[in-house]
Formats: sequence, C-alpha cells, structure tokens
Amino acid sequence: MRILVDIDGVVADLVGALCSVLRVHGFDRYPKDITTYRFQDTLSPDEQGVVDAAMRSPGFVASMPWYPGAPAFLGSLQKCGEVVGVTRPYEHSRTWVHEREQWLQGYIDKTVHTAHKELVAGDFLIEDSTDNAVKWAAAHPRGTAYLLARPWVRAVSTPNIEWVPDYAAILRRIHMRGAV
Ligand SMILES: [Mg+2]
Repeated sequence: MRILVDIDGVVADLVGALCSVLRVHGFDRYPKDITTYRFQDTLSPDEQGVVDAAMRSPGFVASMPWYPGAPAFLGSLQKCGEVVGVTRPYEHSRTWVHEREQWLQGYIDKTVHTAHKELVAGDFLIEDSTDNAVKWAAAHPRGTAYLLARPWVRAVSTPNIEWVPDYAAILRRIHMRGAV
C-alpha cells in the first residue's frame, strides 16, 4: 500500500506562512481569504511581490509551520503503508528542495519533487489541489485521491476523488480500504 502525500496545503501551512509575511508588510490577510488554489489569483500585484520575495528567500521553507496535528497524521499514515511525499518546489527558489528535505526529515523518508504528480504511482494521493487530484485520478483509475477541505478546494464529481473534511476522515477511509 503506497500513500502519496502532497506537502504544501496538506501538512505544511504555506498559506498561513505567506499570510504572516503579508501582515508584516501591512496587508491584512488570513488563510480564509485565500479562495483560489493559485493564491496569486487572489492577491494584488503588490501582495504578489511580497509573496514571491518571501518564497525565494533562503530559510522560508525551513521555517514553515505544520498544520495542527500534521506530524501525528504522518505517523499514523506510516502505520498504514509506504508514505511518499509528492510536492512541487517553487521554481524561482534555489533552496526550496533542500530545505523541504530537511523539513521532512524524521517524518517522511521518500519525497518526489515534481510538478507532474500524475507520473507518480500509488494507491492513494492526499491533495489540496483540485486540478492535481483530477490529473492524478485520471492517470491512476485504480487509485483514490483524497481532496482535503481547504478554502481553495473545489468540489468535483469524479468517481475516484473523494472530498474529506480532515485528517481523521482520511485515516478512517484508508483503514476501511484494507490497509493494516
Ligand atoms: Mg498542495
């Protein structure tokens, strides 16, 4: 049983980190305001500049907060099967991948850094991007994509994509599917 886990928006609170940076720069932004997966589509050009500079900066990924309960969630997933991180690095950052590897140390042993998640095979994919889930689910019709509830997630009616409210619901569903 292989469980693919997207990192940003699933266990790493990228949007929370970016909103913190925006507030430091005088923009009153909170994660609930970010209602598009491409958060650049929600933000003004000035805000986009702040966000881009932050994401390019060494240390940004290293200091990213976890979502509450995320480390324990990864621990529970490890008991269900092989957990593989599948995450897209920010293409304008020179340090993103290295810092992400360090950040995940002790939580996820194997990580694939790619924008093309549909090329990675697994039984399950846990995602916060509707588009990524749709592409992956089409490429892996025997797999199931779990779309985690975030303000930017759109509902879809694809047979092997399931919307889930929280980590506990994902664990329940994977257990029901026979993982031990
Ligand atoms: Mg994501």
